[in-house]
Amino acid sequence: MIYLNGKFMPIEEACVPVLDRGFIFGDGVYEVIPAYSRKLFRLESHLHRLQHSLDSIRLTNPYNNSQWHDLLEKIVVGNDNEDQYIYLHVTRGVAKRDHAFPPNSTPTVFIMSNPLLAPSQDLLTNGCSAITAIDNRWIRCDIKSISLLPNVLLRQMAIDANASETILIRDGFLTEGSASSIFIVRDNVLLAPPKSHLMLPGITYDVVLELATANHIPYRIREIHEEELQSADEIMLTSSTREIMAVTRLNDNPVGTGRPGKLCQRLQQLYHHYKTTTMRGDTPLS
Ligand code: PMP
Repeated sequence: MIYLNGKFMPIEEACVPVLDRGFIFGDGVYEVIPAYSRKLFRLESHLHRLQHSLDSIRLTNPYNNSQWHDLLEKIVVGNDNEDQYIYLHVTRGVAKRDHAFPPNSTPTVFIMSNPLLAPSQDLLTNGCSAITAIDNRWIRCDIKSISLLPNVLLRQMAIDANASETILIRDGFLTEGSASSIFIVRDNVLLAPPKSHLMLPGITYDVVLELATANHIPYRIREIHEEELQSADEIMLTSSTREIMAVTRLNDNPVGTGRPGKLCQRLQQLYHHYKTTTMRGDTPLS
């Protein structure tokens, strides 16, 4: 069951006019929210980031938080799986094609759910491969825009190289993955690039740093040079759907020992415990 512009329906029945500005211009923003045991994880943080994205593209939020909450809950209840990820998307609506904002269009709102599968045993045991590439996206990567063509092309580069993710480098420094945040470990210290307009403020990124704080894992938030990435002891990628994953090969070279590192495994355990405990991640840890 999906939600489109005020109605719940099977996805096969959902249609959007061809003049929707999401279709014509990619003029819209989105969110991806995990639900564990049918409980939305970090909902407030996701709605806060949605508001930031909408403000940044000067689109009025069509709903308040309690309306979003009701709609998202209905989608979670109306779909089969206990663990799901909810995709929501707001565009500037349908209007005659013109780049400038239409004077009075109604935003299009679409919400769907997909099963959220736990990372496979193979991925947990062996980690995944990544490649690096120049970050050739625009300079408002903090907006969760549906215009994802650069991310699509960058991710496909990884797939073509038999890897899972492309890690992006801008002016010699790590930004993030094509669809994930990236952390590295050097000398037992977790390093994270600082949030800026050059990366999406990941919700999982926040959870990882909160878990590090709560469990006395030393970390630093600072610029990470490409060479530090290439010679890191550990690399991990994080996202709402992939959680925390060890990157064990970078550009066909082993990362550290070539096996998932100690810190990554520890964070995976902590994350697993956190998402499955009674808190369900509702409240930030710190
Ligand atoms: N950066 C990019 C470019 C992403 O697409 C994602 C995943 N949506 C992330 C970072 C991770 O964000 P989150 O932890 O909120 O899923």
